[in-house]
Amino acid sequence: MSAATARIRTAALGFAAAGTAAGLATRLFGGRPSQCDSGSFSKSEFRAFRVSSVRQVNHDTKILRCALPSEQHVMGMTVSSLVMVKGGAGGEEGKPPPARPYTPITTDDQRGYFELMVKGYPSGVVSKHLCSLKAGDMVEVKGPFEKLPYKANMKKRIGMVAGGSGITPMLQVLKEALRNPLDETHFTLIFGNQTPSDILLRQEIQELAATSQGRLRVVFIVDKNPSGDSGVQHVGYLTADVAKAELPPPSPDTLVYVCGPPGMMKAVSGAKGKPPAQGDLQGILKDLGYTQDMVFKF
Ligand SMILES: Cc1cc2nc3c(=O)[nH]c(=O)nc-3n(C[C@H](O)[C@H](O)[C@H](O)COP(=O)(O)OP(=O)(O)OC[C@H]3O[C@@H](n4cnc5c(N)ncnc54)[C@H](O)[C@@H]3O)c2cc1C
Repeated sequence: MSAATARIRTAALGFAAAGTAAGLATRLFGGRPSQCDSGSFSKSEFRAFRVSSVRQVNHDTKILRCALPSEQHVMGMTVSSLVMVKGGAGGEEGKPPPARPYTPITTDDQRGYFELMVKGYPSGVVSKHLCSLKAGDMVEVKGPFEKLPYKANMKKRIGMVAGGSGITPMLQVLKEALRNPLDETHFTLIFGNQTPSDILLRQEIQELAATSQGRLRVVFIVDKNPSGDSGVQHVGYLTADVAKAELPPPSPDTLVYVCGPPGMMKAVSGAKGKPPAQGDLQGILKDLGYTQDMVFKF
């Protein structure tokens, strides 16, 4: 039995055990989606979804799990996509609340709910509102809006450089790619945070790597390591030397995703342009010989 066949069989057993054999057949081999597969969001209007649970991830970040219309519904989202979320004080009187983009960390593989991981900024209008929500509250969402479509095997190697809550689009792609036994792309995730205790979803990410059959390698990098955490590979800001040692080398078969706070983006890949523009490639990746078409800034 080939490695790919073994992976299909393992995945098939897992899916069947979860009672979703019909969904597996549709997903792996094509077929007509059910009505619930057509999606729960609208691109033209905000729709309200009930928050079913809230999980504190670290001191300033929460995961909101939001219920879809039924347990069979999916978001109806291609990977990778974002949604617009509305909420908070609208500023001037009579003005609607503002909306900001967020990246669901679940995919259409999850039925019945979707999850948003939100970092709350003390002076941030929408993020503060979202982080104040409790189970039973409603969240208003519009979308999904596609960023860069992910296709199985579109590249041999994908590098990911994420800072803090910039992990969200990487999680979306990794969940989609690693669940597919026919996808052979290898991923290296460099995930930067301030300290080891700030590392978002550390255990989940390690589990993704452990069950990836060698397709995902994770490198944690922190600004400071006061606890001497031995699970962290690098201390200090990402340098060209570290990026060169850890990322797949520049090649037409390589893509590097970058997502993080503006300072990190500037240093690693150059600032992001106004969407949909990417902005010129600069910084560490340019210095290492990557070209514009080898890098995508979320
Ligand atoms: C494509 C895309 C996807 C995104 N996905 C996610 C996601 O999945 N999860 C998530 O938490 N966020 C995500 N964001 C960021 C999100 O859209 C908001 O920008 C963020 O939540 C702040 O919005 P706000 O209304 O709370 O702050 P605003 O009211 O817009 O800003 C108020 C103040 O908050 C602070 N602030 C806001 N943003 C930042 C920042 N990036 N770095 C430092 N300080 C800041 C500043 O002090 C600022 O003056 C994404 C952004 C983009 C462009």
